[in-house]
Amino acid sequence: PISMNDPIEEHRICVCVRKRPLNKQELVKKECDIITIPSKSSILVHEPKLKVDLTKYLETQPFRFDLSFDDNVTNEVVYRFTARPLVQSIFEGGKATCFAYGQTGSGKTHTMGGDFSGKTQNASKGIFAFASQDVFLLQSQPRYKNLDLEVYVTFFEIYNGKVFDLLNQKAKLRVLEDGKQQVQIVGLQERQVSCAEDVIRMIEIGSACRTSGQTFANLSSSRSHACFQIILRKRRKLHGKFSLVDLAGNERGVDTSTADRQTRMESAEINKSLLALKECIRALGQNKSHTPFRESKLTQVLRDSFIGVNSRTCMIAMISPGMSSCEYTLNTLRYADRVK
Ligand code: ADP
Ligand code: MG
Repeated sequence: PISMNDPIEEHRICVCVRKRPLNKQELVKKECDIITIPSKSSILVHEPKLKVDLTKYLETQPFRFDLSFDDNVTNEVVYRFTARPLVQSIFEGGKATCFAYGQTGSGKTHTMGGDFSGKTQNASKGIFAFASQDVFLLQSQPRYKNLDLEVYVTFFEIYNGKVFDLLNQKAKLRVLEDGKQQVQIVGLQERQVSCAEDVIRMIEIGSACRTSGQTFANLSSSRSHACFQIILRKRRKLHGKFSLVDLAGNERGVDTSTADRQTRMESAEINKSLLALKECIRALGQNKSHTPFRESKLTQVLRDSFIGVNSRTCMIAMISPGMSSCEYTLNTLRYADRVK
């Protein structure tokens, strides 16, 4: 078991990269792996280029992040160095966020919700579940026990600027901002949970709801942000909150020339929200007084997590290793680079 006695680390923003292994299709197509991770903080992209005489060569682009996870690293280890250091902060009354960013198929849902290989999801092996387990562990520790905290979870999806409750059959919800700039999702189901099994059931219900009615799981989920929240309350009053977000695929908008109107609108909305997210995280990192959270629904509903002295965030940028993903991978790494 992981010891939870380490001191809360200082930095407010942590940006990491995770490379997934080449998948079956990529192996069948004999795709080259263009990513190498020579040390735990550096990552190299070997971009294929053509010379004037049409011979090919690889141009290497280096990036540095807080941590880079190679393709043999497990979800549990990724969790341990990304979201886990933030769990304790919500017991101290803080707001934490963890984002999985990257192109569709790069491993965001695998990392956050749990392995989806095969027909069923192993919801107990994702960051949502690991974080919840540690919440229960800390809740029972002597120093937090007498706080009498209750644990709740919510799970919702933001699609095209609209919020849907994944724990309530995708009920469409309104977002209200009151005079004191408090943002509220009206009617969002908050389910009280008291053990890891409770939470895993919620992750399964929400994940199934997310993909229901879709022939391919990735069709709808690649176009929406899914937000799983762990909320601590003390006599109903908010104490701390951890928002874990499986973001929409960032490849949307890269090629819109052939897309229909609906797809173009979705793409514009996703681009807008990912741009707003970047600016909000940067504002948090630089302790700026102005946070442009109103630019998108995603940043609006996470408003209270981007302000305040006790807010911390972690971004995990997911990348596919194949040559055919090169352009998307570079986009992802450049975005992550701007956030840190
Ligand atoms: P995304 O949510 O970013 O679109 P997924 O999480 O659905 O991507 O991953 C796409 C596929 O790759 C899934 O079948 C998933 O099981 C597999 N996969 C992703 N990351 C890993 C990993 N680190 N190890 C093994 N398989 C992975
Ligand atoms: Mg996904």
